[in-house]
Amino acid sequence: MGTVHLPVMPAEVVRFLGCRPGGVYVDCTLGGGGHALEMLKASSPDGRVIGLDVDEDALEEARRLLEPFGARVIILRENYRDVKAVLERLGVGEVDGMVLDVGVSSYQLERAERGFSFMHDSRLDMRMDRRIKTSAYDLVNGLPAEELERIFRTYGEERRARTIAKAIVRSREKVPVETTGQLARIVLMSLPPRYRHGKIHPATRVFQALRIAVNNELENLEAGLRQGVCCLRPGGRMVVISFHSLEDRIVKNTFREISSGCICPRDVPRCVCGRHPLVRILTKKVVVPGRDEVESNPRARSAKLRAVERVVH
Ligand code: SAH
Repeated sequence: MGTVHLPVMPAEVVRFLGCRPGGVYVDCTLGGGGHALEMLKASSPDGRVIGLDVDEDALEEARRLLEPFGARVIILRENYRDVKAVLERLGVGEVDGMVLDVGVSSYQLERAERGFSFMHDSRLDMRMDRRIKTSAYDLVNGLPAEELERIFRTYGEERRARTIAKAIVRSREKVPVETTGQLARIVLMSLPPRYRHGKIHPATRVFQALRIAVNNELENLEAGLRQGVCCLRPGGRMVVISFHSLEDRIVKNTFREISSGCICPRDVPRCVCGRHPLVRILTKKVVVPGRDEVESNPRARSAKLRAVERVVH
């Protein structure tokens, strides 16, 4: 389709990971392989990258790009929320670094048949992993109005969630909502005319919410962060790039929690929780791309990077 997926903040990723020869790194969201390529270059001549993705199209793309690196790369169709088990199966002990560049890739958005976007009118789908059974079509046509409302409200932070959910139910009573275009129109027409011409299409939040629900994105993210840090050697690093406030909140809160030691109330004379910090936060302030990058890569627009380093205890 001619889409090039540019990796977001590639220089920052490599710098925060501290890529070096001989290192072993995990790219939990391989996508087109952009970050993995940078990590391989920065860890030449013998650093290794284990790349995971659930999307077979992405894996194929990455395999092509990374072929020249031969045995330095292992590519697996796995969900990063299982990263610990995956590394155990490979017989890989602790790793030197891990990157999570969450969300959807430009390839996924651009490929009409994947049904992620209302820029193309195609069958509603939105599954990153096509082995899972429930697609956006099933949610939109099968869930009760209250469930749809909850999804739009919690995952899309959509204020008109109830109105939109009701409009969908009314419409599907006549004919099923088959396509992304149909859904976008229903959302648009459910709103008073003055809301129909904003800067972003009114259906954007609804699409984001459905995508998150279909792919269990927030649960996977939290599980991946917690498991991932347990796979790092002391001094090993994790870099996470997120793309909207719900994701960033999870990253920020999880990092804060695992970087703080004792959580006993102040008035307890001696620690009884026995907790130690697992990591040290490297990004006191969230890192965002520079203006040049945002101009040349639309996907970078809302990107936020946070990084931690595993500590010994
Ligand atoms: N860093 C990549 C782009 C990543 S886009 C590059 O530079 O090319 C995000 C990718 O993460 C998508 O391909 C998506 O399929 C994948 N993904 C999302 N959730 C995942 C999960 N839970 N496990 C594994 N891969 C996931």
